[in-house]
Amino acid sequence: MKRIVCTLTYAMLLVLALAAGACLAVQPSSAAPELGPEPAATNTLFQVSTIQALLNGQYDGTVTFGSLLTSGDFGLGTFDKLDGEMIAFDGKAYQINASGKVTPVPATWTTPFAVVTNFGSDLELTFNSVKDFADLQLRIQKELPGLNLFYAIRIDGLFQYMKTRSVPAQTEPYPPLAEAAKHQSVFEMKDTSGTVVGFFTPEFGGKVNVPGFHMHYLDQSATHGGHILDLSAQEIVVKIDRTPYLFLNLPLATAGTKMVDRTHELDAIEK
Ligand SMILES: [Zn+2]
Repeated sequence: MKRIVCTLTYAMLLVLALAAGACLAVQPSSAAPELGPEPAATNTLFQVSTIQALLNGQYDGTVTFGSLLTSGDFGLGTFDKLDGEMIAFDGKAYQINASGKVTPVPATWTTPFAVVTNFGSDLELTFNSVKDFADLQLRIQKELPGLNLFYAIRIDGLFQYMKTRSVPAQTEPYPPLAEAAKHQSVFEMKDTSGTVVGFFTPEFGGKVNVPGFHMHYLDQSATHGGHILDLSAQEIVVKIDRTPYLFLNLPLATAGTKMVDRTHELDAIEK
């Protein structure tokens, strides 16, 4: 009898544990209690490939921008052959190439790595006297409801200083990203008004996307921009969008490619 009770208790505990597990699966975090099992577009990141694949030189575009922008109106990434930096907001995507030229992206162009979402602000802040990029990141990090979620970040304002980079198109056989990034061009702007598109990736997501902050910039006239290396600003408006759902589109063509863990190379590339 005792044994039957015991077995029943274990069975009930198992059911409870499974139920709790199922609840956790559909409730991504206590910071977002209103989220149901159906992810809203503004709560979902749509990503093409992984940072690990990009670090390993997987630069062949697999998704067209026409298709990408149906999954999100806001994002960043790169182009087929690693041909420059991509920034998208308000439904429009731009290329900043290695010579600094900005081009609106045709729908037929493709990307080997990009992340987009339909931006919907959950939190709006005004920051004054941002002394550099590290200061900006620290101040945003303090405002995040927690560091175990992905976030999209939009910043608008006048920047006293903006330092960006872009990378040139690569030829096959493609070198690893750390090698390709050695040939980057760096651009400096003073008193520039524009928009920053950024994402925060939690530490555990470091093989999927760039862990921590990753931001791209485009000025108001759409003539200058790139991947942000440094900045300063007197007053900027920062909008934060929690994105607890992640949709990954992995390229079939590279499914069997041997990948080396190159995440340690990220630090040198991103700064
Ligand atoms: Zn970038």
